[in-house]
Amino acid sequence: MTMRVLVTTSYLKPGGEVDRLLSDAGFDTVFTTPAQRQTSGTPLADLVRDADGIVAGTDAFTADVIESAPRLKVFGRCGVGYDNIDLAAANRCGIAVTFTPGANRRSVAEHVLALMLNCARLIPQNIASVRAGRWEQRSGRELDGAVLGLIGLGSIGKTVARLALALGMRVVAHDPYPDNDFLAETGVQAHTFDEVLAEADFLSLHIFLDDSTRHLIDASALRKVKPGAFLINTARGEVVDEAALADALENGALAGAALDVLAEEPMPLDSRLRRLDNVVVTAHIGAATEQARSRSSLMAAQQVIDALQG
Ligand code: NAD
Repeated sequence: MTMRVLVTTSYLKPGGEVDRLLSDAGFDTVFTTPAQRQTSGTPLADLVRDADGIVAGTDAFTADVIESAPRLKVFGRCGVGYDNIDLAAANRCGIAVTFTPGANRRSVAEHVLALMLNCARLIPQNIASVRAGRWEQRSGRELDGAVLGLIGLGSIGKTVARLALALGMRVVAHDPYPDNDFLAETGVQAHTFDEVLAEADFLSLHIFLDDSTRHLIDASALRKVKPGAFLINTARGEVVDEAALADALENGALAGAALDVLAEEPMPLDSRLRRLDNVVVTAHIGAATEQARSRSSLMAAQQVIDALQG
């Protein structure tokens, strides 16, 4: 019997390069998006029933869904972070879970740069003001000479560091497992968590979400941040205590924040952060480039093929 791969990554389409890769390897493919499932009323649990492999995006694969898939052998997750897949359930059912480290680091790092420049030059505020018929010229700041503080110096943190160094920024970083060769090669300085908070003009987060990093940036951490600093979060929303962040933005402890990720996505209509004009929010688009999507989806599909062909 031909094995079947279900593709749930919303930007992948039948007939595209991932479909061709899987079909050429001898698999049947089925594509599904949340919008199609809503229209057809077909739950994800029904679609996984005869899948041997899944190329997954950000859909929630709960224990219930995973337990509805008796043939399933492997998830190939496009992207990094498995917070949408119940790993305990996958483990229990003997299903391998892979992801695509490195495939989107450049895109996320470039997005961090874009967010920093937007903060530094007050670009979103200026665009809104011009749209409203005004012609204001509030002073921003150059990135050259500013201190970038990185929490997490892994794949994405290091790529951000290299881009920031090219712009003349000084880069300090906290990571419990620093890559000493990288530090020696680039001159990025390893600091304690508190030192990074105290020194950074731009504080950028590049850590995974787990029990040890949930609300790492809380009221106590925000009190240690350099006055006038900006917080950039492209990691995961729950790394930041958003209520404490809103307080810090309202009372001027932070000059601003740029967030690509939120504790609840899409952003709730009544979020306090929505009302603050020193907050820039993008809709989790750090890895949303043609290049990153192509690299990570082909890598995920190949991991599924390798696992199924054993
Ligand atoms: P990575 O594993 O390469 O790097 C994470 C680093 O964090 C590691 O070096 C680790 O030692 C360090 N670390 C762990 N705990 C720490 C702590 N308490 N303090 C400081 N450092 C700590 O991961 P990555 O590929 O660089 O991804 C980083 C984050 O980016 C993840 O949260 C991921 O979910 C997020 N991400 C977001 C997007 C997006 O679209 N916005 C896309 C890809 C990844």
